[in-house]
Amino acid sequence: MDLNTPLTYVKGVGPARGAMLEAKGLSTVEDLLLYLPLRYEDRTNLKPIAQLAPGEMAVVICEVRTARVSAFKRKNIGMFEATFGDGSRTTLLGKWFHGGYLANVLVPGMRVALYGKVELDSWTGQLLIMHPEYEVMGGDEEEGEAGLHTGRIVPIYEAAGKVTAKIFRSILKRVFDSFTGGMEDVLPEAIRERLKLPDRWTATKNIHFPPETEDLRLLNAFRSQSHIRMIFEEFFWLETGITLKRMKARAETGIAFELHEKVRGTIKQMLPFKPTGAQKRVLAEIAKDMAEPHPMNRLLQGDVGSGKTIVAAEAAIIAIENGYQVALLAPTEILATQHYLSFRRLFEKLGYVVASLTGSNTAKEKTKLKQFIADGFVNIVIGTHALLEADVEFQKLGFVIIDEQHRFGVIQRLKLIEKGQRPDVLVMTATPIPRTLAMTMYGDLDTSIIDELPPGRKPVRTQHFPEDRVEQVYSLIAQQVELGRQAYVVYPVIEESETQAMKAAQAMHEQLSRFVFPDLRVGLLHGKMPSDDKEATMVAFQRGEYQILVSTTVIEVGVDVPNATVMLIEQAERFGLSQMHQLRGRVGRGAEQSYCILVTGKLNDTAKERIRTMVESSDGFYIAEMDMKLRGPGEFFGTKQSGLPSLRIANILRDAEILELARAEAVSFVERPPSPDALRRVASWIQTHWQRRYGLVQVG
Ligand code: ADP
Ligand code: MG
Repeated sequence: MDLNTPLTYVKGVGPARGAMLEAKGLSTVEDLLLYLPLRYEDRTNLKPIAQLAPGEMAVVICEVRTARVSAFKRKNIGMFEATFGDGSRTTLLGKWFHGGYLANVLVPGMRVALYGKVELDSWTGQLLIMHPEYEVMGGDEEEGEAGLHTGRIVPIYEAAGKVTAKIFRSILKRVFDSFTGGMEDVLPEAIRERLKLPDRWTATKNIHFPPETEDLRLLNAFRSQSHIRMIFEEFFWLETGITLKRMKARAETGIAFELHEKVRGTIKQMLPFKPTGAQKRVLAEIAKDMAEPHPMNRLLQGDVGSGKTIVAAEAAIIAIENGYQVALLAPTEILATQHYLSFRRLFEKLGYVVASLTGSNTAKEKTKLKQFIADGFVNIVIGTHALLEADVEFQKLGFVIIDEQHRFGVIQRLKLIEKGQRPDVLVMTATPIPRTLAMTMYGDLDTSIIDELPPGRKPVRTQHFPEDRVEQVYSLIAQQVELGRQAYVVYPVIEESETQAMKAAQAMHEQLSRFVFPDLRVGLLHGKMPSDDKEATMVAFQRGEYQILVSTTVIEVGVDVPNATVMLIEQAERFGLSQMHQLRGRVGRGAEQSYCILVTGKLNDTAKERIRTMVESSDGFYIAEMDMKLRGPGEFFGTKQSGLPSLRIANILRDAEILELARAEAVSFVERPPSPDALRRVASWIQTHWQRRYGLVQVG
């Protein structure tokens, strides 16, 4: 038996159990060894029956005295009752609902160990354990099992179909008994020694068979040295793989953009305002990367409204003034249009040709646009997935901006990047990403963070109203409009059905424009509108021709109307935290006091927590952390294909500090490996074991 042995070859695992294990992703011995207990129970409290006290968890070694299936009126319950003795004066009662099958298992005269919570039977006043975990002592078949399910710190596994925790323990026992090979430990020894981590085999064994001396609390917190070792290892492979990938990308030849006087002059000419300190610092980081003769791979993070667009525009100028074209990929059409409008405005006086290419261009327009792009006539093209089509060719693509929104996979990014000759790449995110997630998902990118808002911003005032007080909200909107301001009213897209949200938005538009604000101009925006209409509506709102804009979440990102001071979010309980924060970022962009109003129906606990967080905090990084805690790392991005590596043992939330440690160790190991051979060994281990799982397309 070795690590690759299929589990069906293990005694006690037939085809049926094999299939159930397989469904849990467990097909080899190694899979099983890496299937960690959910928790542990201390079953070492061994007591004679005479000393048992109601309420305690105890293990009792005793003999079956009587056993019967009770003759209940409702036969299907099949209550199995047995009495047990150990020479004490009293006996112990055990009861199992649906225990008919036990009639052949627990027969009088047999010695067993029982584990469970001791109670007093309300009928007889006798000591009782309901559904005790039992273990047959010294029987022939289960001979090897004594002390497996009781009498020690016992691991509890999550069941796989009918494979219960108990069966898991038995199978694991057999594996450990007949497994002779040990396990290869590729984790560099220097690291293991410095961090005092046990070797892989010892750690695995101790996790399934904790030594008596192990601290139960540490085990249950996944913080025994053995747990730390296994968690560290998983993060270490991931982070080493990422670091190798980053190093490799850095070593490639790319474009060395020149930062000559003309570039600086053009940037100055474009800037509509004085950049903040953070914007300056971040641009310097980007410009330095762009000047180097290697491709840039940089992530630009910043809270909503921190001014990422202007930084992207500055970087675009560097590329364009060096004679290259720029492509900006946006996740939605509305956002693409919004970017298109901003860039056109910013670049107007520079004489740049700005184009927009999206799915709703007519075929004729597309053909013409593609020609202009291929000829090099277009300086910057902004678009959606349409940009990725094979027949979109550039004359000289040198800089790619991806407005990420976590919606693009690695493959999609590559499709655009490959249209150029190793262009520099800037990935922008709409809202902050928790540090741990950024380290795992975007670990191969260098990071720049804008951590300062433009001057003169007043924090948005956030308030929560239950549905039945929506009238108050309307009067607030009326007041603001009276003062010359504008308002958004947003509906959630429910379960990705834009159609439903559109209907709700349409109904509300009708309601608001006809009955609530008959004197105001109310616009409507949703994802199903033709793009010309979308653009027209957005431009009209921007110009102040609409006082109120009713919208589905298509508005979520990018919209920039400084005169808008009210963001009313309907059914706010349906929104994720980051999404609400993103929406809130649409207001508070001018000098006036702005408001974010969350209107909700009935709230469950986590929805309450989300609303409370929104009302209390406006810090995007804090909100992102909370969002991840409430939804879990897998749900944070709200999309299935988030590119999050599937971890087996480690947990980004629980094990954040081990991740930090592994990251630091991985970086220093890759940058200063003890020997080239040690690095090769680790790289090839990652290649064979972890590459696919972590989505590391190429490593080393
Ligand atoms: P983000 O994309 O990071 O959410 P934007 O780039 O849309 O933010 O910028 C938000 C708003 O702040 C825009 O109206 C923009 O013109 C303005 N802005 C950005 N930087 C500055 C600055 N340094 N000074 C004044 N206003 C700024
Ligand atoms: Mg470069």
